[in-house]
Amino acid sequence: MKRLILFGAPGSGKGTMGDLIQRDRGYVKISTGDILRTEIEQGSADGLKAKGFMAAGGLVPDELVMELVRRRLGRDDLGAGYIMDGYPRTLAQAKALSAIPSSSEQAVSIEVTEAEAVERLLSRLTCRDCGAIYNQKTKPPKVAGACDICGGVVERRADDTAEAVRRRFQVYAERTLPVIEYYAGRHVLARVDGSGPAALVYEKIKGLVS
Ligand code: ADP
Repeated sequence: MKRLILFGAPGSGKGTMGDLIQRDRGYVKISTGDILRTEIEQGSADGLKAKGFMAAGGLVPDELVMELVRRRLGRDDLGAGYIMDGYPRTLAQAKALSAIPSSSEQAVSIEVTEAEAVERLLSRLTCRDCGAIYNQKTKPPKVAGACDICGGVVERRADDTAEAVRRRFQVYAERTLPVIEYYAGRHVLARVDGSGPAALVYEKIKGLVS
């Protein structure tokens, strides 16, 4: 099973790139943020545990996220391979993932300035049901408030506020940059400039996916 890992600060476009690769390559995108938001929507015990950490822009505890990922990877619908969007975010998560065998592994770090990412996040809209990503200015849904893909409610994410965004950036620098170095050390990391329109960034990324 092939594994592609997407890294990028909040607003870097990693979710959008994951969606495009899924569409073109038959890989299945696994977004831990989406999985956690679904748990919260459903009011599950795991969702309740995660909710406060997420709203504040902090990380959900490793054991909880690692268990959700183990469960997701245990399903037999992964197609040609899978894309990890938002996981691993800590060294403990990276080590847990490395313990799961893969036939090939590629990591991509999508790099943008904080200023550009913040601007994107504050105009970002997300489907509450399927996680599809829109932008008020550059890519609004065809019908205001409704998802083009599933018809679900399109809205601002609870953690796309100035304060939570600031915290998410801090956490990314402290906890996730060392994880990127871990993959650089394994010689599977590519760094891509994520500034500019999504189509342009995708041109640079798609050649990296086998
Ligand atoms: P972004 O990359 O824009 O912050 P995500 O949807 O990937 O958005 O994640 C949203 C939130 O979900 C994170 O701020 C964090 O609270 C939680 N989360 C997602 N993935 C993980 C993970 N691998 N480990 C811990 N918390 C996570």
